[in-house]
This record gives sequence, C-alpha cells and structure tokens, in this order.
Amino acid sequence: MEIQQNNKKGRNFLYPKKPSGKLYTYRKWVSYVLLFFLFSCPFVKLNGEQLVLLNFIERKFVFFGLIFTPQDFYLFALAMMIFIIFIVCFTVVLGRLWCGWACPQTIFMEMVFRRIEYWIEGDANHQKKLDAQNWNTEKVLKKGSKHFLFLIISFGIANTFLAYLIGADQLYKIITEPVVLHISGFLSICLFTLIFYGVFAYVREVVCTVICPYGRLQGVLLDNQSLIVAYNEKRGEPRGHLQKNQTVNLNGDCIDCGLCVQVCPTGIDIRQGTQLECVNCTACIDSCNEVMIKINKPINLIGFYTQDFIQHQKPFKLSLRAYGYAAVLMIVMIIFSSLIYRRQDVETTVLRASGTLYQVNTDGTISNLYHAELINKTNKDVKFKFRSKELTDQIKFIQLPKLLQKEGSTQLTFFLIKKAETIKEYKSAVAFEVISDGKIISTAKTTFFSQP
Ligand code: SF4
Ligand code: SF4
Repeated sequence: MEIQQNNKKGRNFLYPKKPSGKLYTYRKWVSYVLLFFLFSCPFVKLNGEQLVLLNFIERKFVFFGLIFTPQDFYLFALAMMIFIIFIVCFTVVLGRLWCGWACPQTIFMEMVFRRIEYWIEGDANHQKKLDAQNWNTEKVLKKGSKHFLFLIISFGIANTFLAYLIGADQLYKIITEPVVLHISGFLSICLFTLIFYGVFAYVREVVCTVICPYGRLQGVLLDNQSLIVAYNEKRGEPRGHLQKNQTVNLNGDCIDCGLCVQVCPTGIDIRQGTQLECVNCTACIDSCNEVMIKINKPINLIGFYTQDFIQHQKPFKLSLRAYGYAAVLMIVMIIFSSLIYRRQDVETTVLRASGTLYQVNTDGTISNLYHAELINKTNKDVKFKFRSKELTDQIKFIQLPKLLQKEGSTQLTFFLIKKAETIKEYKSAVAFEVISDGKIISTAKTTFFSQP
C-alpha cells in the first residue's frame, strides 16, 4: 500500500476545529473508561499489591496481583512479545486505530488538554485570534488559566506515572514526608511534570507524526486489505463547490468545504490518500458525515475502507498476513498461559556443592552436599519445611532457616543421605519438596552421585 508522508518544513502550529459527531461521542466514552483505568490501576490493591507496577529500578513487576521477580524475566519478555504481536495484528486489520482511540498520548491530548483549550479559548478561530492579538487582560487571563490547568494536570499525570514506576506507597511517602528525605523523588515529580506539560502544551501532534516509531511502521504493516480511515475518491472526485441555489452537484460528492482538513489534529488532508500522519482519530469522518447529511448525500464519503474496496469494490476480508499474525499470537498466548499456570509462588533451585563428590559415611550410607535457594514471589512470609521426595532418604541440614520472608530469598545447605542398597547407578535423579501449611508449594530436581 502506498503511504504518503508530508514533508512540511518547520513547525506549523495547528488549530484543529472542535470535533463533534457520533464517533467523537464514542471516543469520549472510550477515553473515560481508559482514563479511569490509567489513573486507578496504581492505587487499587489486589492481594496486597497494586494492580499494575512496573518497577524497573527494583526489577519488580506486578500485574493484577501476580508478582514477577527478575527470575520471571522470561514471562515479562513473553508478555511484552504478546503486546507487540497484538498491536501488529491489530494494525494489519484495523490500521492505526490504536493511535486515535486508545493511545494515552492521544487520549490526554485530544480528550483532556485540547478540550480544556476549547473550553477556555474557544474554537479554532477564537484561538487563532487570541494568539494573534496583543497582550491584554483577556489574553493574560485566558492563557494564564489554561497553562495553570495544564500544569496541574501534568502534575497529576506525573504522579500517576511515578506510582506505576516506584509504587503508590513510595509515592505517598515522597508526598507526605519532608522533601529532604526524598530529594530524587521530588525532583522526578518536578521533571516529569515539566515533560508532560511540554508535550501537551507545545510538542503535541509532533509526538505522533515524527517521534513515535509506531507511526513509521505503518508503511510495512498496512496492506490493501487493511481497514483504515480513507476518502472514497471514486465517489468524491472530481470535487467542486456547490454553487448558490444549486441543489444538484454535477461533480463528485466532495463539495471541497475543507472541514475534514480543519478538524484534523495532525493537519493533513485525508483526500490526498493514506498518510503516515493519520492517527485514525475519525474526526474527519464525523465532519464529512455532517456535510453529507446537509447536502442529502449518503454518509461515509470518508469512512473505514480498504484500498481494495475503494479501487475495485472488493468486500472486506482478512488478509493471509492477518491470519498468520493471529496464529502466532495464539501460540505465544498459549505458551504464556501454560507458563503462568505452572508458575510456583516459591521457586526452588538445588545445586550440588561445587568441587565435592560423594561421601561414604561410617554406617555405610552415601551422602552428597547441596546448596539450595528458595525465592518467595509473594508478599507474605512463608513458614516452610524442606524434604526429599524419596521418603527413605535422609536430609542433614547444615543451614536451615524456617522462614522465607516476603519477596525475599533464603539459602539452605544440607547433605542428602541415601542407603547404599538403594543406589543403582553412578548418577541418579533426586527431587525435593518445599512444604507449607501441609501443602507442597515448590519442587526441585537435581542429581545424586555415588558408586553403585
Ligand atoms: S468534509 Fe467531505 S465534503 Fe468537505 S472537503 Fe472533506 S471530503 Fe469534501
Ligand atoms: S485524517 Fe482524519 S482520521 Fe486521520 S488524523 Fe486527520 S482527522 Fe484523524
């Protein structure tokens, strides 16, 4: 699929017209739900942990009550892989719909900051006029209150962002305890507030059109069977203005009113074809539909179309690529689910002590020396017993802690002692069990050496 890229030089500050329409109303409701989740996830607790935590510094990740430690990095990597494949699969089928409807950048920009701007400064024409006029009381008041609100909201976003990164409890300490105790935390809040303020007050759509790498991938991911926001040029062209008192347009259905361009938050003209800058926000569909209704034409001159439909009237069907990505996604999700299902709250590793072989004891039994590490992936202390799975074997502990602290680890050193007559081969498999509250909560395997 041919995707165009605008090569405008310099920053042309945009004043998109306030959108309205059915799709815009749906977008508002989607954004309310997503904003609710975004702001509540770090502050709602499940099993004593916040719903989502991405603490890269302490390498602790929590998703819906499940704690992932550095030992679970493979699960975290798989979860990231699922997310990326899902986005790729989604893009192949529905284009950049994620950007316009679910990306936090767009949601904050279009549904929070831009709406405050419309509320204080008015629609696009009023904003342009206000920017062009000399500084007076009205301009100072409007600009001052807008930027003050922008800073307050950026502060809120910065705090929430940090709650995801360092945890809501730690954030609470930074806010409530003296600043000198949390200089770096305090500076982080200030820095992130300024970054978010800069992004939403000034950088704006440049994040989507230039900075975000996902937008650049569109050329690779989209094909002629992808459903994207597109202008049906076969129906719209040749475009031409409706003349006064003219009820029938002799041209195509596009009356060249320019509303679809005026409302676009990235400043493009969708009639020039699919462009990298289009975030599929659907604002142009709403605007054009209003026009079509006024001139008694069928709606969706701009709508969700595949290039195959516009060019050859072929109905929408999933491409082979989409089926391929969906199959890969399913496979990775099945692997991920089975690993999560088999994951133990306490992970045990047992290794034979390096540099030691077996020992023959005075009573004829054979012993091997082992080191074990137990990692507690829960947020509760665990009282435990450690035993050999083979009940005829004995364990003599050199070091045996009985309590495994929450989110902590502990070491055990012990001899596994076997009766000589039970040993049939030089290297045999042995297994251990960790018991807590009468239940086996973890197992581990290793090998036992002895001369049979
Ligand atoms: S809003 Fe519709 S009719 Fe108006 S210029 Fe755009 S495509 Fe043409
Ligand atoms: S072209 Fe339409 S869908 Fe694309 S960004 Fe502009 S208004 Fe949104």
